[in-house]
Amino acid sequence: MTKQIYLDYASTTPVDKAVAKEMCEYLSIDGQFGNPASNTHDFGMIAKLAVDEAREKVAQLIHADSREIVFTSGATESDNLAIKGAAFSYQNKGKHIITSNIEHKAVIDTCQYLESQGFDVTYLEADDKGQITPEQVRKAIRQDTILISIMAVNNELGTAYPLAEIGALARERKILFHVDAAQGVGKVNIDVAMMNIDLLSLSAHKIYGPKGIGALYVRRKPKIKLVPLIHGGGHEGGYRSGTLATHQIVGLGEACQLMFDKQTIFLKHVTALREIFLEKLSSLSHIIINTPLENSYPGIVNITFKGIDGEALIAFLHKMAVSMGSACNSASVEPSFVLTAIGLSQEDAHSSIRFSFGQYTTKKEVIFAAETVLESVNKLRGLSPRWQECSDV
Ligand SMILES: *Cc1c(COP(=O)(O)O)cnc(C)c1O
Repeated sequence: MTKQIYLDYASTTPVDKAVAKEMCEYLSIDGQFGNPASNTHDFGMIAKLAVDEAREKVAQLIHADSREIVFTSGATESDNLAIKGAAFSYQNKGKHIITSNIEHKAVIDTCQYLESQGFDVTYLEADDKGQITPEQVRKAIRQDTILISIMAVNNELGTAYPLAEIGALARERKILFHVDAAQGVGKVNIDVAMMNIDLLSLSAHKIYGPKGIGALYVRRKPKIKLVPLIHGGGHEGGYRSGTLATHQIVGLGEACQLMFDKQTIFLKHVTALREIFLEKLSSLSHIIINTPLENSYPGIVNITFKGIDGEALIAFLHKMAVSMGSACNSASVEPSFVLTAIGLSQEDAHSSIRFSFGQYTTKKEVIFAAETVLESVNKLRGLSPRWQECSDV
């Protein structure tokens, strides 16, 4: 079996070899395996230094102070800690939360849980490209609004959001602003200070780091109080107890440093790939590009191939790894809620595929992928009498 071409970088990324190498230094008896909280000996102190250094590298990527970084198990936990933590901490000020209907499940399900606990949530409705405007946010703000949660980049569409404008609104009204930036860090400009972001979730495995580690940025000035999800030894300023996973944290730090160093080259690379891909597909009729090309992270493109069953197309595209939406949804027969939320019919949502490119994707792979897609869509449409009927009219 030949290896498939990996075009599912929005789902996860391979760990950069330099990152993996660095992580290995913090595991075995020959390496630095100490507990960073053990400050009575060298083993612990050396591990703590490595954690401190990683904290600096994470902070650097989002223009934060290293004291504002809380390590978690990933963006799902960070989203939970930010949203539940803030909701339970500030509920005496109000019980209203604003988010959108195209957020990641880690945000939407958390908000739905809070609704069951007596909170009131407004889910702003995204437009046909998955966009949310600052005006929509402004109109939804109430006296009792305590939190606004809007993502940096949409995981299914690539749509990038107006964080600075929303942050300014939130700050003006003294409402906390949380950003799920799992798909955004290193890919779009993020400056927590300039954008008035109070809480920001990120994950290592979306940026060539390991799975199972992430961080939550928690603003220090003004200081934000969060009710922790995990109680225990009081690690991470009490926000998140549990022995720090040194090797994982080192991996996250290294991944952030690499994204910081390579950002310009990386973005140029994925931009060129998406252009080539779309150029190759331009002869195809009856397709809808669901990604706003002008206002998105260029490593993602979501396309509806009218009249085609997405699962049949994926079967034709067996030489490449693509998905019909987010990884968390593809096990179910229901089409992506994001695609139906932006107005696609159930049928069109079932005819949509997300292609996502990354640092190891080559031009050759993208050209091959586009040619295969072109050929497969034409073949499938040729096989479908129903399609021939509707394309005649
Ligand atoms: C991947 C992802 C998450 C979940 O991150 P994990 O680290 O896998 O828990 C949350 N939000 C968005 C936007 C994502 O893309």
